[in-house]
Amino acid sequence: MPTLWSQSLIPTLREVPAEAEVPSHQLMLRAGLIRKLGAGMYSYLPLGLRSLQKAMAIIREEMASAGAVEVLMPALVPLELYKQTGRDEAYGDNLFRVKDRHGREQALGPTHEEVITEMIGATCGSYRDLPKTLYQIQTKFRDEFRPRFGVLRSREFQMKDAYSFHTAVDGEGGLNETYQKQYDAYCRIFSRCGLPYVTVEAESGPIGGSASHEFMVPSPTGEDTILESDKGNYAANVEKCEIGPRKFSEIFTNAHTLQGVGTHAQESIGVLPAAPPTGELEQVHTPGCPGIEDVITFFKKNLGTKLKPQNMLKTLVFEASLKSPEEVKKEHEFEAAHTPDERQFVNERFFVLAVVRGDHDVNEGKLKQAVRAINPDIQTVALMEPHDALRHDFIIGFVGPHAAINEPLTQLIIDPDAAVEQFWVAGANEKDHHVKHFNWKRDLLDKLTNHDVKGNDDRVLVTDIRNTVDGDPSPKNDGGVLHTRKGIEVGHVFKLGDKYSKAMNITTLLPDNSRMHPIMGCYGIGVNRILAAAIESDKGHDENGIVWSPAIAPYRVLITPIKFDGRAKDLALKLASELEARGGNPGPIDVLIDDRDERPGVKFKDADLIGIPVRITLGDKALAEDKVEIKARNGSNGPKGELVPITDAVNRVMELLH
Ligand code: ATP
Ligand code: MG
Repeated sequence: MPTLWSQSLIPTLREVPAEAEVPSHQLMLRAGLIRKLGAGMYSYLPLGLRSLQKAMAIIREEMASAGAVEVLMPALVPLELYKQTGRDEAYGDNLFRVKDRHGREQALGPTHEEVITEMIGATCGSYRDLPKTLYQIQTKFRDEFRPRFGVLRSREFQMKDAYSFHTAVDGEGGLNETYQKQYDAYCRIFSRCGLPYVTVEAESGPIGGSASHEFMVPSPTGEDTILESDKGNYAANVEKCEIGPRKFSEIFTNAHTLQGVGTHAQESIGVLPAAPPTGELEQVHTPGCPGIEDVITFFKKNLGTKLKPQNMLKTLVFEASLKSPEEVKKEHEFEAAHTPDERQFVNERFFVLAVVRGDHDVNEGKLKQAVRAINPDIQTVALMEPHDALRHDFIIGFVGPHAAINEPLTQLIIDPDAAVEQFWVAGANEKDHHVKHFNWKRDLLDKLTNHDVKGNDDRVLVTDIRNTVDGDPSPKNDGGVLHTRKGIEVGHVFKLGDKYSKAMNITTLLPDNSRMHPIMGCYGIGVNRILAAAIESDKGHDENGIVWSPAIAPYRVLITPIKFDGRAKDLALKLASELEARGGNPGPIDVLIDDRDERPGVKFKDADLIGIPVRITLGDKALAEDKVEIKARNGSNGPKGELVPITDAVNRVMELLH
């Protein structure tokens, strides 16, 4: 049965709602797909719900063909489960907590690894029960710091989350096989939804584990930065993206430095020859100028010097610790309150000075990896708060690499682009001061005591610790150049390993009667984001409204009788039932009839706004010639559409939908 517009609820808006910044948010509100109830909370109105359900149906089909079976877990989860894995703290304020009438604490699930692990632990005790891949489509809750862009980042959203359990990584039934099946299913899901997407290598984030990929829809409004090699053989998100080999000064290649803990042998492209200092080390008074930009402005205004960020060293102070981030935070709080000056430097706890060029940003994931090359057991590498740093004489905003000289148990990690000899301005390690002509050899290397926290000769490490920027060399080392784009993350697949099964101590019996913690993968799709990303993408909208791809359009066909009575009414209903009878490939042909008593102009504007792929207009003039007007919303049959004999109408619509 076709839907009559007047019976549905489609509150279209002419004006762009003030709070909506990005096209998808504006259009989802204006086309009456969603309605805001509160910050990050949205009702789905009939059109929005239909699209959401279509995306879900595609997901369900593809999950089934990847061998995943559907379950449904409660959104309300005992907090105790998240405590078992430490995710109550790892998720921090993003976790919604609820106290029940007995005072017991629950969480509103942000994802369900713990719940499914418990389920598998209780029901799959033997290797014969595995592998299993289970999934659900369930409401997820996250108390996002900044809910925005409508359903792109809301506090309550629909996620498809799948989880797989294995006794092996490789081989038949292993994690790698299922990971690939999920990966392939994701490709089919996003293609079928008409989404232009790219897959990128990604860090595993708070969820932990080793390998992961994200599925990104390129869009200028995306919150993620992705990098792609122009050779087309490498793509990664900015958190993960590696940089190809870069040259740095040969002065860093002696005994007390250690290079290239990253994946790329720096030697393969050689080193830069040593050079003399650019001048005497000179202190400059830079009052109230802690930041790179502040210093540049100050130099210009007060010294008449044009200083470039590329000539500044950015030195950030981190603490490395064997403890968890939460414990480190508590330690700092305790020390701030109790023992301001007495701190013991130990192998388990040391400072890291991370140095990058002024125009670059430290990548904390890479830095952590580098620190782990010094001590593999380090759990936390946390940026120090200014007041904590001050207790150890690091004056944040004015720290220079030579701060390491007087702090014998401080490690220096320098990005290759900063490990070159040139004119440098750096912090002076004195409040409101910087230094000019900083020279790595004269002002640092020659003065360092040659041992680190372990007594080794590697207090200085030169390795990639910065975010990739446009124009960097590809890590494939094939002459490729990396370029940046913005993207919306619609899906994410992870190889988790035994993180959860170990933390929750669930085991599986193996054929030799030993037991193991099953190995896990997890796979998420943001269903609401599929809709928003589809609209946000290149061909998903134009100046008049949404342009749906047929698979996830609320309806495939809109019939617009100029007046819904007499012959036009009969024909509208007849065409609708003929179209519906044609269902099959590409799925059901569902029809919306605009039966409203509105002016044609209003009807056409609304039709463009809600973006139904094909519109059939029934007007008196054409009907007199036994014709109807058919117009594809994506413009594929011209800006004005075409006049088609009534008898050909259904066939023509089917052609346009394919
Ligand atoms: P983000 O980095 O955007 O915050 P995430 O990496 O935390 O997302 P995952 O834990 O990987 O998200 O969740 C799986 C999927 O759920 C994401 O790929 C995304 O499509 C979707 N998603 C995550 N957070 C939100 C949100 N606040 N609103 C809507 N969808 C979301
Ligand atoms: Mg993610």
